[in-house]
Amino acid sequence: MTNFPKLGILGAGQLGKMLCQAASPWNLPVYCLDASKDFPAGPYCNELTVGNFKSYEDVLQFGRQMEVLTIEIEHVNTEALLQLQKEGKIIHPNPTALSIIKDKGLQKQFYKDHQIPTSPFQLFDSAAQIKEAIRKGDLALPFVQKARTAGYDGKGVAVIRTMEDVENKLLAAPSVIEALVAIEKEIAVIVARNAKGEIRTFDPVAMEFNPIANLVEFLTCPAGITPQQAKTADELAIQVIQAFDLCGLLAVELFLDRQGNILVNEVAPRPHNSGHHTIDSAITSQYEQHLRAVLNLPLGSTQMLKPSVMVNLLGHPDHQGPVHYEGLEEVLHIEGVKVHIYGKAITKPFRKMGHVTIVADTIAEAKEKARKVQGILKSVS
Ligand code: ADP
Repeated sequence: MTNFPKLGILGAGQLGKMLCQAASPWNLPVYCLDASKDFPAGPYCNELTVGNFKSYEDVLQFGRQMEVLTIEIEHVNTEALLQLQKEGKIIHPNPTALSIIKDKGLQKQFYKDHQIPTSPFQLFDSAAQIKEAIRKGDLALPFVQKARTAGYDGKGVAVIRTMEDVENKLLAAPSVIEALVAIEKEIAVIVARNAKGEIRTFDPVAMEFNPIANLVEFLTCPAGITPQQAKTADELAIQVIQAFDLCGLLAVELFLDRQGNILVNEVAPRPHNSGHHTIDSAITSQYEQHLRAVLNLPLGSTQMLKPSVMVNLLGHPDHQGPVHYEGLEEVLHIEGVKVHIYGKAITKPFRKMGHVTIVADTIAEAKEKARKVQGILKSVS
């Protein structure tokens, strides 16, 4: 029996599943809280407690049975986590930072207060208030509007370029209005920190978006940026995790703009889509690193073994229902293709059903194979 503290995860989606898989070689027991035992982590954790991670009572009850608690999704009940922290539980990410990060308005204000470069912004309570500001000349087009809470994967983000967009696309919820950045490249750096203060970063990755779903669909590591840009990105990620005083992983999404500036877009204090490739291409995966970091163990080497491209396997746009996968055997013929199916029962348009990492000697070769994979492997009903 290994003597790890009892570790609980709020959420049992794909990130939870991959955390459980990383825990398995150490024989580290992991407990999850989520709405159904059928969720991706269900078969991989030691026990899944059925409950709602947004509910104060459910989180409190679950957390009281754990020694260390972490998350795989931000939208959890932070009041319960604060109470559990008072009761002596170890909570990573710390609930104070988590409540700032959950609210994009507070997050932007945090960067401003800590002199962390980010695009200029203003906060608004309603669409009417935004229209009023435009009318008065206090707010100019174009801009990006983001719902302060509950957005994810590009939902809750509106790019407003014209007065027609103002009429048709404005979100009603309290929001952040940001200057539209002229983006050269979107990159991400995953950084980990443990309670001893040890910090390690993974190499930056470049993200390419599907313009329809606004989801990352192509992710490359190395990112194809200059060593100086990589250094700046790395230093920024470290600055941000220290400012938030976080333990565990922090995925820092960055914009490289056309003037060469690097700005923080947003962060996620947990394993992240932009780190999936590390399972197959780095000495330590982001998932193992998160476990090491939250358990205050020595952090692992983040050295990359091979260039890689990661593609999300998204639900086919025209299919909804019980899932089956087309082309699985065919893609497994391609050398360097590593398939990860999350185990979700139902496919929906653009739902994240799995991902595929392609490792190769060069990014060009990995990209070519990734395009093939995209043409063959389908999540359909
Ligand atoms: P989500 O949390 O839903 O992923 P993001 O803040 O990452 O939302 O925004 C989604 C995408 O919208 C970004 O990846 C980027 O492509 C675009 N975007 C966000 N903010 C800006 C901005 N200020 N300027 C230009 N594009 C932006």
